[in-house]
Amino acid sequence: TDEIIETDAVIVGAGPVGLFQVFELGLLEIKAHVVDSLKMVGGQCMELYEHKPIYDIPALPVCTSRELTENLLKQIHPFGPQFHLGEEVTVVRKEEDGRFFVQTDKGTRFMTKTVFIAAGVGSFQPKRLSVPGIEKFEGTQLHYQVKDPELFYGKNIVICGGGDSALDWTLNLVGKAESVILLHRRDGFRAQSASVAKMRELCENWEMQFEVGQVSGFEEKDGKLTEIRVTGDDGVVRRMPLDHLLVFFGLTPKLGPIADWGLEIYRKQIVVDTEKFQTSIPGIFAVGDINTYPGKKKLILCGFHECALAAFAASEIVHPEKKTLLQYTTTSPKLHKVLGVE
Ligand code: FAD
Repeated sequence: TDEIIETDAVIVGAGPVGLFQVFELGLLEIKAHVVDSLKMVGGQCMELYEHKPIYDIPALPVCTSRELTENLLKQIHPFGPQFHLGEEVTVVRKEEDGRFFVQTDKGTRFMTKTVFIAAGVGSFQPKRLSVPGIEKFEGTQLHYQVKDPELFYGKNIVICGGGDSALDWTLNLVGKAESVILLHRRDGFRAQSASVAKMRELCENWEMQFEVGQVSGFEEKDGKLTEIRVTGDDGVVRRMPLDHLLVFFGLTPKLGPIADWGLEIYRKQIVVDTEKFQTSIPGIFAVGDINTYPGKKKLILCGFHECALAAFAASEIVHPEKKTLLQYTTTSPKLHKVLGVE
């Protein structure tokens, strides 16, 4: 569509810090849209350690990552943030009128007065196979995610990986695909034990095969991937004919498009001041793990503090006509109104 969403703030990243940024902006009556390349909110906390306890959130002696994320969602609920999940922000560009044009890889477009980059360690991307040349089959015969499972029905499939995604798709496609081979670098898995047991049972019944080894090369004919070469743990290279190769090596964060937005970057982090947490481009702020300044510590509590100061600085841009005063949530009738707790 041609529609451009006009807004006061776009937050890039829905990790704990991006979520709390919604709250600090909300208190100052600045509405925000939040974009994350992951399909869920919570950032590293949910992607890397959902069920682990955190002990250093002020006034919460212990909470799991998931609880922290759920509580943040509850806390920002009054401000009605709009989420755009499963979308990566690819373009951030300053326009002549001082606003910013922001676009995602799914084509969502914004015109916003301020941008908050809360991108953590970057956007999570599937880990790729490191076999030179094989990338040209990506999207046709080489897949890092499954969009349409029917593509694999009646085909010869090789699935690489040893986690839940690899096991789940293996179990899902056995019986529907012509043949399924699961390939993993070792005979040990980081997946639900019930799935592993089921997979071994299918192997015993000759319904699929499990092989230990790593993809080390491939063959092609007329522009089509015809077989892969697999180096086993015995060092022997074997040939494995196939129609499709599915690879599930997990996700890894990449700074990605942020590097192209003209911001001052130091060692893959965005340089900010400690008064406003503003980047080298006025109107673009950076908070949480993605920023750097003297003394920076990558802690959630530090990110929360940065959100408060960045919001006050942004208020001068979004509401230039009014002076932004510090008010207490305990006593301010105005804050009670925006929080909906009158
Ligand atoms: P993140 O949580 O990294 O979230 C950033 C989000 O931005 C991601 O979801 C990413 O997909 C998204 N993103 C990036 N680029 C784009 C883009 N271009 N477009 C769209 N989306 C994008 N901290 C503590 O304070 N206490 C602890 O006890 C603690 N324990 C930890 C344990 C582990 C195992 C790990 C890995 C970290 C721990 N941390 C802890 C660190 C803490 O998780 C981070 O400080 C925190 O997650 C940073 O939050 P964030 O919102 O800045 O970034």
